Amino acid sequence: MNKSHNVQPEKPLRLSVNHLLSHVFWIILAGTLLGLLLWVATMPQVVSALWPHSRGLVRISSQEDFWADQKPKAEEKAFIAYCVEIAKARNQHLFGDLKSKPRCIFLFKPQNITHFLYKAPVKIASTFYFGRPFIIFSMYKLTPDISSHEFCHAELYHRLGGSLKQPSLPQWFDEGLALQVDGRYTQAEQYYNLEHKNLPQPKELASAQDFYRNPDETHLRNHLLSYFWVKQWLKRHKQSGLNKLIQNIKKEQVNFDTLVLKNHSVGSHVTKPRKVKIL
Ligand SMILES: [Zn+2]
Repeated sequence: MNKSHNVQPEKPLRLSVNHLLSHVFWIILAGTLLGLLLWVATMPQVVSALWPHSRGLVRISSQEDFWADQKPKAEEKAFIAYCVEIAKARNQHLFGDLKSKPRCIFLFKPQNITHFLYKAPVKIASTFYFGRPFIIFSMYKLTPDISSHEFCHAELYHRLGGSLKQPSLPQWFDEGLALQVDGRYTQAEQYYNLEHKNLPQPKELASAQDFYRNPDETHLRNHLLSYFWVKQWLKRHKQSGLNKLIQNIKKEQVNFDTLVLKNHSVGSHVTKPRKVKIL
């Protein structure tokens, strides 16, 4: 009785450990598969951009990693080349030699524009980073300003690598930098002079949620303000300062609030709001 009593407890214990390990394995496997499925469901544009053939996209350049959802006509292809050429030139002026080679996807079909740009606040274009930069363009909105803007995001993301998460890179800086090569916001200073008393501080525009909140009321204002802040910073720090800053963002050594508020106190260089004569 004693003998069997001594031997028996070991066997079930070993069995139960093996059993438990097998359970853990299946739970981990199931969890991984579920996570993968959820990831595919929540980020369909990333999946399609990674495997463009799966969405029926065709490659449109032998030299560049450019894709489209239909074969572009000769004049459409020429317009894409023109927009990309301007984008590269403007960004080279900002950063120096470009290091990124983004995969660009040019979309004609409305269902694909919705699919790829479903997360974008406006369905014009979007850039995201997944091991490398990807740019999605709606062909109906493509201009040299738009391509320059998105190529700037791509170059910044590429240089930052994985250090993209906020608050390391505040939304206002990301957007404000892209607006330096985007010709649509040249009236920023004028707008700022007129309205600066009611404008938010940089820390209030650090997250994407805050930046794009109430787009109708604040979308333009936040873009103009970001453009203005970055423009003032670049005036003083120039290209070498920008490249140093990017290195410091990677090391998480940048306090963007202090950077703008101390060195370029909001409104410090602005004398006074212009007085408007009412005749
Ligand atoms: Zn942008």
